[in-house]
Parts: sequence; C-alpha cells; structure tokens
Amino acid sequence: MIRTAAYATTAATEPLGPFTIERREPGPHDVLIEILFCGVCHSDLHQARGEWGNSIYPMVPGHEIVGRVRQVGAAVARWKVGDRVGVGCFVDSCRRCSACEEGVEQYCAEGMTLTYNGLERDGVTLAQGGYSSQITVNEDYVLRVPETIPIERAAPLLCAGITCYSPLRYYGLKAGDSLAVVGLGGLGHMAVKLGAAMGAAVTVLSHSAKKEADARRLGARDFIVTDAPEVFDAHAGRFDFILDTASASHDYNAYLKLLRRDGTMVLVGAPEPTPLAAMSLIFPRKRLAGSLIGGIRETQEMLDFCAAHEIAADVEVIKIEAINEAYERMLRSDVRYRFVIDMASLGPASAAL
Ligand code: NAP
Ligand code: ZN
Ligand code: ZN
Repeated sequence: MIRTAAYATTAATEPLGPFTIERREPGPHDVLIEILFCGVCHSDLHQARGEWGNSIYPMVPGHEIVGRVRQVGAAVARWKVGDRVGVGCFVDSCRRCSACEEGVEQYCAEGMTLTYNGLERDGVTLAQGGYSSQITVNEDYVLRVPETIPIERAAPLLCAGITCYSPLRYYGLKAGDSLAVVGLGGLGHMAVKLGAAMGAAVTVLSHSAKKEADARRLGARDFIVTDAPEVFDAHAGRFDFILDTASASHDYNAYLKLLRRDGTMVLVGAPEPTPLAAMSLIFPRKRLAGSLIGGIRETQEMLDFCAAHEIAADVEVIKIEAINEAYERMLRSDVRYRFVIDMASLGPASAAL
C-alpha cells in the first residue's frame, strides 16, 4: 500500500482537515497518478456535509482530478509516465451491463464505482477522492487532458464541464437555439461557454445581480435576475432549452414557464426536492429531464472539444488549508467560478515515493 497525504472530513458537522489514506500499489492494469490540482464541486460540499443522506466517513472528497502519470502497471499500453491525465466522478463500473457497453458507465446497472463516497469493486475498500496527493486508477477510467489547456483550468472540466456538455448534446441543442442557463456557478459558467461554442444564444438566469458583466464576458448575450415573480411572465415562452444548474431549491414551475412549446428543461443541479405541477408541462407540451455527469468516451470528446474551442474553466486556485472557507464562499454563491486546490500545498506526496 502507498501512504498518501489527503484532506478528509470525519462527520457531516466536522470541517475538513489533514488525513492519511492508503492507495493500492498499481496492478497490471492500473495507473498511479500524481495529483497536481483538484476542483471543488458543490457535490463535494453536499456529500461532505451529509446532505444527500448517503455519506460514508471518513471522506476525502474531490472528483475533478488532474495530474501526471507517475507509474504504470505491467499490462498498461495506453499510458506512460509523464502523461497529462484526468479522473472524474467514477473510477470503475461493471463493464458488462448495457449502459457500460454503450459507454454511459455513469448509469451502470450495478452502480458505477464513485471516485469517493462509495466502495471500490471489492465491496469493502472505501474509495477516496482527489483532495489527496496521488490516486491509483484502472487505465480504462483515465482521461487524456490536452496539453493546450492550462492544467489547473482543466480540472473543473472533469465534472462541471462534462455535466453540462452531456445534456446539451444528448437533448440536442442546435446552433441558433436560445439557451437559458440557470445559476452562474461552477457548472453554470461552463454551460455558458459550451453552449456559446455550440452556437446557441445564451441567457444567464441568476439570483445574483452582480454577475451580469461576468456572464456577458463568458459568452452570454443576455442576463436576467430572477428576483421577482413578474420576471417569469415577462420572459414566458422565450427559450428552446433550459439547463438548470442551481444548487439550492427553487420553483421549477416558474422556470418551466420560460420554455417555448416543445422546449426542454434539463435539471443537473441537485437541491432538495420541490413540488412540480402537471400543468407546468402539459401546456404547451414541454419536457423536463435530468442528466448525470457523462461517460468516459463522451468526457474525452468534451475535453477535445474544449481544446479545439480554447475553452477552460475560470478558476480561483486555493491552498488546501482554505478548503473550509471555500465551502462557505460556495454556499454564498461567491465563487468566480470554480475553486481549484493546488495539491502542492499538501506537502510531499508520500514517504514511500
Ligand atoms: P456552485 O458553483 O455552488 O453554483 C451553484 C449556483 O446555483 C450558484 O452559483 C448560484 O448561481 C445558484 N444558486 C445558489 N443558491 C441559489 C438559490 N437560492 N436560488 C437560485 N439559485 C441559486 O455549484 P456547482 O458545483 O455548479 O453545482 C451545482 C449543482 O449541480 C449542485 O447541486 C451539484 O451537486 C450539482 N451537480 C450535479 C451533477 C450531475 O451530474 N447532475 C454534477 C455535478 C454537480 P447564481 O448566483 O447565478 O444564482
Ligand atoms: Zn461534481
Ligand atoms: Zn455496468
């Protein structure tokens, strides 16, 4: 086993602090990755604080991992030492079910192996995430990070990027469509960049009036502050597509008013449940859908799309000691637009290396 420096929380009410974990020695098909940066997703906060009711402690969060290959197993042909790589929200899956066969491993019938807050496929080892100095991952669940994307700005693509890219593709966003992005946070700012690059006319719907200049700089053509019920009547029927990334509960019925006939609203933000009126969908014939991250093949496609379109996340690089304050700022919607931890701040990776 490889002793590895990390940051963990031991209970929903505890802050994160220094912790030591053990990574497995790379097997024949494994890659050992030195983690250089890890993005801070709102899902890290939801899970660290037990908000989804499924948290397992001690927990090392982090599923926006980028780094360099440090060691490869004997049978690994695809990766070599020094490669620039990433790991997203899952590190394995059953590989046999229809979802795995179709390359949408996030919907694996047996359940994907989450990067953290879950058990590895042996059913006993607790998976631990990217707020750590290194990780051992099966070679099939590693992504290639294009050299042209600044590495700290690539980290958020591994969750925020793919979570927005996948539904825009799957639900068929077309050039010329009017796209509303709800919430300008880590996911939302990627949705603006990706939607604009796909040729959509993007409008940001935000509860923070002060983000307008940023929204326009990121590629939005319009900006609406959702601070009063009249706003939803004033813009009724305006959008072909709504991508809802907000992390806190809000009234879906109000946002559905903004769709045109046959329009689609996709939820990727995962707040507490709120009521939905059938009439919000019935009249006039609207779709409400959801989407979960993306499969390995599509995540690689998204990374290559970002490289081709010179897209990267807007990040604020922090030291690991600042993680608890970063969570508080994220709760206040005060992140421009993704915190990314510089893992050098953790100190030496491990005494064993
Ligand atoms: P984030 O950076 O904190 O951004 C969330 C945004 O939601 C905020 O910036 C804010 O935007 C908006 N918001 C916050 N409070 C609000 C309120 N009271 N009413 C309306 N809007 C509010 O979070 P994130 O990392 O982007 O994650 C967003 C959500 O997506 C989280 O629930 C996360 O767990 C979920 N998620 C889902 C998937 C998936 O696969 N489906 C993947 C990753 C994350 P404004 O200030 O512009 O209003
Ligand atoms: Zn995430
Ligand atoms: Zn499967």
